[in-house]
Amino acid sequence: MSILVIAEQGHRMSIEAVAAAQQIGKELGQPVEAAVVGPAGELAGRQLDKVYAVEHELLAKYTPDGYAKALRQLIEKRAPYLTIFPHTYQVRDYAPKLATSLNRVLVSDVVGHRVENGRLTLVRQLFQGKINADVTFVGEPPYFASMQAGAYRADQAQSGSAPVESFAPSLAASDVRTKPLDLFRESQRAVDLTTANIIVSVGRGIKEAENIPIVQELADALGAELAASRPICDNGWLPMERQVGSSGQTVAPKMYVAVGISGAIQHLVGMKGSKTIVAINKDPEAPIFEVADYGIVGDLFQVVPALVEAIKKAKS
Ligand SMILES: Cc1cc2nc3c(=O)[nH]c(=O)nc-3n(C[C@H](O)[C@H](O)[C@H](O)COP(=O)(O)OP(=O)(O)OC[C@H]3O[C@@H](n4cnc5c(N)ncnc54)[C@H](O)[C@@H]3O)c2cc1C
Repeated sequence: MSILVIAEQGHRMSIEAVAAAQQIGKELGQPVEAAVVGPAGELAGRQLDKVYAVEHELLAKYTPDGYAKALRQLIEKRAPYLTIFPHTYQVRDYAPKLATSLNRVLVSDVVGHRVENGRLTLVRQLFQGKINADVTFVGEPPYFASMQAGAYRADQAQSGSAPVESFAPSLAASDVRTKPLDLFRESQRAVDLTTANIIVSVGRGIKEAENIPIVQELADALGAELAASRPICDNGWLPMERQVGSSGQTVAPKMYVAVGISGAIQHLVGMKGSKTIVAINKDPEAPIFEVADYGIVGDLFQVVPALVEAIKKAKS
């Protein structure tokens, strides 16, 4: 029995999934292997018992049919106890199909785990993060789980040197029922906040669209991406792709600066995995301070320009 991580080529969350698999593998006393469609890349430099580079010309472009069929063959060959995915958009698309094809379910959006008496319990959130639920598997493995962004830390993934083996699945053109076209221009331009190291996020405290540049200046000074709470995007003050939260992106940067954001649960679920959270809010009772590592109680129109000045001074 082993743990198998199925990584997504070039996606930062893949290393978080490796960290999760290494921890679970250690606690269960099971070896950890990984697989990725395409070259092994960064996985080869991680402490893994084996890395499978899954290669086939029909996998050159992503399709749920191609990925599910190819990875199913690897799972049948390796018979892992648990297969772990990063909870990316692509995984949301094909992993339930893959699990179902083996008559299994996928426990999605896992935020933590426990091992007690050799038994694995996964923790996942319900009702937009209001409730945590313990989940255990029944029936025979293989089991499947996807890990929410930020639940496990990429910097805790152990480095090493992993043997790489090529895995060539058997795929026929008729297995793939969709023909992927080029990515939409919008998608190509879309901001992927999940890869940002620093995010400055603006909320309704900014009062009007004309004031957004005040916060943009802070983002620029920190070399950060600008993000927002939902009302800002609903108002069209920033594009939807910059929204963080349950109906926006889930992010886990090294630093998240929340400016004039109250900290509603739908916002918190999208950012509470951030390593360091800084909140600027004039209301000392604002719920954002419950998750903040550093809190500044004050008027953002005074605090933000002062911070920008201090950062510029420190950098010069
Ligand atoms: C189904 C559903 C899905 C949702 N999805 C999302 C989502 O994905 N993302 C999301 O963000 N929300 C989402 N929401 C909305 C969420 O419930 C909140 O309404 C929203 O997050 C509030 O945004 P806010 O914090 O910017 O605004 P507010 O709650 O209005 O907070 C503004 C904050 O600014 C502070 N403030 C005001 N003036 C100043 C000042 N001068 N200086 C400093 N601070 C100041 C106030 O004290 C307050 O705390 C969703 C809601 C539902 C029902």
